[in-house]
Amino acid sequence: MIDTHAHLSRWDVYDHADELVREARREGLLAIINVTMRLNEVGNALSLVSRYGGFVYTALGYDYGGFDIREVQEIMRVINERRNLIVGIGEVGLDYSVVRDRMLREISRHIFTKWIMLARDLDLPLIIHSRDAEDDVIKLLSRYGPVKCVMHAFNGSKEQVMKLLELGCYFSIPPTITRSRQKRDLAMMLPLNRILLESDTPELGPSPGEVSRPVHIKVTLTELSSILNINVTELSNIIVENTLSVFQLGKR
Ligand SMILES: [Zn+2]
Repeated sequence: MIDTHAHLSRWDVYDHADELVREARREGLLAIINVTMRLNEVGNALSLVSRYGGFVYTALGYDYGGFDIREVQEIMRVINERRNLIVGIGEVGLDYSVVRDRMLREISRHIFTKWIMLARDLDLPLIIHSRDAEDDVIKLLSRYGPVKCVMHAFNGSKEQVMKLLELGCYFSIPPTITRSRQKRDLAMMLPLNRILLESDTPELGPSPGEVSRPVHIKVTLTELSSILNINVTELSNIIVENTLSVFQLGKR
């Protein structure tokens, strides 16, 4: 099992990140992919990679609700410079439930487009957050791709899922699948070779209000195994293969 989406370098998580990593190892996880949303997380993220090389990997990204172009440029500079230490770009994306102003939405599309082009140029997977913006995400991916893409905690429609599958996207399923009908329906729609696991530590825990931890991907795996009626070990192997093929872990 590999957690493809955890915010370990975030200011409120980083203090106990070591504990979370130890627990994940003890519980048999094979790796964790950290994601970032701010420039001030980059130092923590790279430090985790150097402390836990071969177990913690990192993607670097930028807040879908942020508009600081200079911060974006600086993060892009680090990605280019430290390309060999980075396994993806994210999380990035569009969130129209947070960004309501028309002009600001335009700017967030402009920034997202730059991320797509960078991911394409560097051949890195793009970890995408999308809320109420799925049609624009699809439009921009089609226009500026092709890119390897991972839709994180996706809650769009079936039609949108089908379009994203055509574009080659993978979908990472969070622990909220235990209490979300929509996530169960999503899992049933997906071909097995496009499913990934994510904890979204600390956000999307298995019970309401519960802080998520990387080990919670085990809960997701068990739930998926019962929904899809596939043996846990077999399913786990398939999902690990999927993860390795998108993120090329250990091959850089
Ligand atoms: Zn996240």
